Amino acid sequence: MEKDTLEDYERLLLKYRDLAVLGSAKGVLQWDTETMMPPGAFELRGQQLALLSKIEHSMITDREIGELLERIERGQGYESLNQVQKRNVYLIRKQYDENTRLPEELVTETERQAIACYKQWRDAKAAKDFKIFEPELRKMFELKKRAAEILSEVKGVKTLYDALVDFFEPKVSEGAIGNTFDQLKSRLIPIISKYSSCQPNTDWLKRVVPHNVQVEIAKRVAEFINYDIGGDGARGRIDPTEHPFTIGYYDDVRITTHYYEDNFTSSIFSVLHEGGHALYELNLDPSWKYQPVGTACSFGFHESQSRFVENVVGRSKHFWTYFLPILNKLTSGQFSDIDTAKALEAVNSVKPSKIRIEADEATYALHIIIRFEIESALFSGKVDVKELPQVWNEKYSKYLGVEIQNDAEGVLQDVHWAHGYFGYFPSYALGNIYCAQILNKLEEEVKDCWSEVERGNFEPTRQWLTRNVHRAGNLYDPMDLLVKVTGEGINPNHFADYLEGKYRSIYG
Ligand code: ZN
Repeated sequence: MEKDTLEDYERLLLKYRDLAVLGSAKGVLQWDTETMMPPGAFELRGQQLALLSKIEHSMITDREIGELLERIERGQGYESLNQVQKRNVYLIRKQYDENTRLPEELVTETERQAIACYKQWRDAKAAKDFKIFEPELRKMFELKKRAAEILSEVKGVKTLYDALVDFFEPKVSEGAIGNTFDQLKSRLIPIISKYSSCQPNTDWLKRVVPHNVQVEIAKRVAEFINYDIGGDGARGRIDPTEHPFTIGYYDDVRITTHYYEDNFTSSIFSVLHEGGHALYELNLDPSWKYQPVGTACSFGFHESQSRFVENVVGRSKHFWTYFLPILNKLTSGQFSDIDTAKALEAVNSVKPSKIRIEADEATYALHIIIRFEIESALFSGKVDVKELPQVWNEKYSKYLGVEIQNDAEGVLQDVHWAHGYFGYFPSYALGNIYCAQILNKLEEEVKDCWSEVERGNFEPTRQWLTRNVHRAGNLYDPMDLLVKVTGEGINPNHFADYLEGKYRSIYG
């Protein structure tokens, strides 16, 4: 390799290393905000995070990065860079262009608008009236449209919405998502209507399990997936928060959960879900630490890993065969009248609902498809901001068969749009689709994966996921990684087949 190119490359990577370290420091502060911070520190914490974001932005848009990129890309030594080095250069270039091409006033105005929007959203939700939110949301939408216009040029994509999706699922187009979701929708609607008529007994899920016992249950769940929170070299921990999340980088990846005394499985599933996210981060290639390739592939791939652990494993016969006796022991026999079949029926029940975050595995994807269809229509000008409640309610009635009574349980339920997050929702359902495709390949290659889970051994599965998904880091865009791992492009039929197969075996 040309000496100059190598020197420039190393200098570029050194700059990125600082960004990675700074990002991880921000993560610890964000974690602290939700877990330990005394309420009086709210304002100071806001200043701390704002300052770090400002420093971060100036580091990302540092002119020297632009000069280094220019020299490396045009230099004679570029072709001698290996695949990983080229990918690092590509990812830094992408981040640099995305951040330097947007005018600063647009960025600041969007940030300011997010605060105003959030406040109006909260008031509107309390009053159950979308009209209160509409003017501020319209301003936010106009700002995001302006950003998308600039970004669609930078990214070389066809539609405005493509430019927004690209932040979460790089190079996945609105058209491809639309086709995939249409196919999935036509399979899901009959599955949901068939199985929502079998309403199993779920009363026992409300039996009170004290907080301290649930903490012990969470530890056992973490132990099962090999998420180390107690050993000498532990790189994880579990703390309670209002909404569960995962945050961290390589050596320090923390998850949170919420313990509801009258809903003990909520914490079991959130530890499995967040644990799935954490395993991804913890098992990235250590030699790629501080490099852009040493990050996850996409939001959808992240979600494929969390859903794999939560739903595919955590709602399987094999997991409950192993875990039910442990649960009984930890709760002094509180569930001795429940067998694996009863447990499975209850944790897999299908019930159309109005609220996304309460949805089951099958109906969840429809909540996402509805949001995608609405966002897509909004950015292509087919729907106006003022029509959102009506469009929302019609789709909920048509796809899920539920009648929305007011905006709080309808279009105002999620905070995402108030924050200006458009293009983010599709990743959730793409995660389900990737996950089912990954499952097929795993079962083909690790024949005893399920008999091992039944014995409490998740390691063969975890190791396969690490080898095939986690270790690939951000070397490929999501659609390329999917083909690499599964040998097939995106195909929603596997997810529908998986659901159908599981429900048939449980409910007949
Ligand atoms: Zn998740």
